[in-house]
Amino acid sequence: MKIEPTPSPLEKHDPIVHASLTRIIGGLEADHVEGASFLISGGAGFLGSWLVDALNMLGAGRITVIDNLSTGSIENIRHLVEEGRVELLRIPVEKYEPDKGYDYVIHMAARPSPDDYVEHPIETLHASSIGTERMLEAARLNDAIFLLTSTSEVYGHAQVIPIPEDYWGYVNPVGVRSCYDEGKRYAEALTMAYMRKYGLNVRISRIFNTYGPRLDWENPGYGRVVVKFIVQALRGEPITVHGTGMQTRSFLYAPDNIEAHIRLLRPDPNLKGAIVNIGGSTEITILDLARRILELTGSESQIVHVEPRPDDPPRRRPDISRARRLLGWEPRTDLDDGLKSTIKWIKYRI
Ligand code: UDP
Repeated sequence: MKIEPTPSPLEKHDPIVHASLTRIIGGLEADHVEGASFLISGGAGFLGSWLVDALNMLGAGRITVIDNLSTGSIENIRHLVEEGRVELLRIPVEKYEPDKGYDYVIHMAARPSPDDYVEHPIETLHASSIGTERMLEAARLNDAIFLLTSTSEVYGHAQVIPIPEDYWGYVNPVGVRSCYDEGKRYAEALTMAYMRKYGLNVRISRIFNTYGPRLDWENPGYGRVVVKFIVQALRGEPITVHGTGMQTRSFLYAPDNIEAHIRLLRPDPNLKGAIVNIGGSTEITILDLARRILELTGSESQIVHVEPRPDDPPRRRPDISRARRLLGWEPRTDLDDGLKSTIKWIKYRI
């Protein structure tokens, strides 16, 4: 059954995010969400808060967010917390004591920004190791559907492009990115162990570069490339391209990612144990991304080349045929449209 979005305080709080979600939710079959209860770690973060808003608009029952606000922000969910639609437990996920009352347990808490996680390697590893175990235990206690949001980083410097889910990866286990990459690889292994050992109904998404409103644009150390370049362009500052800029990424606009996740949560038996890439299918060099952002903002900023990042993956593009087949999903928003919305959102705040 197609669900009409329920009125949400989001409409007033953030019209751009609201409009993007309304577009996605409009044709989505989401009976499984209506009235269901959700425990979500990282729900105040960038993607976590998009998901929380979407679930609320789809008529979810209880939503509990675990977030220590280390990289997330209360501003992302304040409108829902104040109206009593979301309960926020402000603790690190590693400290969560599993509790009853949930149909779905979703583990999103992580520190996914390279500039940030190299500064916080231990916390990054803990969120993926102890944090994943806490959330899996919560799912086991409730016999809930469990979702781990993993990452394209599990593939490391992929030798196969586009990257299919059955590619095993090429990862430096001790490099500066290993706290994130190996943490997520462990989290995936633990998730699959809970399915094999306890029969838990699990799903794993491997998220590729995703951008949009709510990515942290204020802290240059945390912000990812898209918002960092937009802010630099809007302020007339140099656009800092690491290395030659010939490294590639495939960018997905946040609401498209959320649509895929809502589909991945369906109680379809074929989805038990599913591991699915969720990402954009158009690959672009970072240099071309910088040029697109300059054009769309009309900025006079200069592109400057700064030191290459250590272990920066040279190419990244997902094979999304499994997502197409299993979820009936594909990206809807082209890069220019997503960038325009993101620029508008940041311009409004800067
Ligand atoms: N990047 C860049 N300049 C910046 C920040 C990032 O050239 O100021 C590049 C970075 O080297 C990488 C890509 O943009 O190749 C994506 O970086 P991001 O931090 O967004 O995430 P990643 O995909 O590396 O996890």
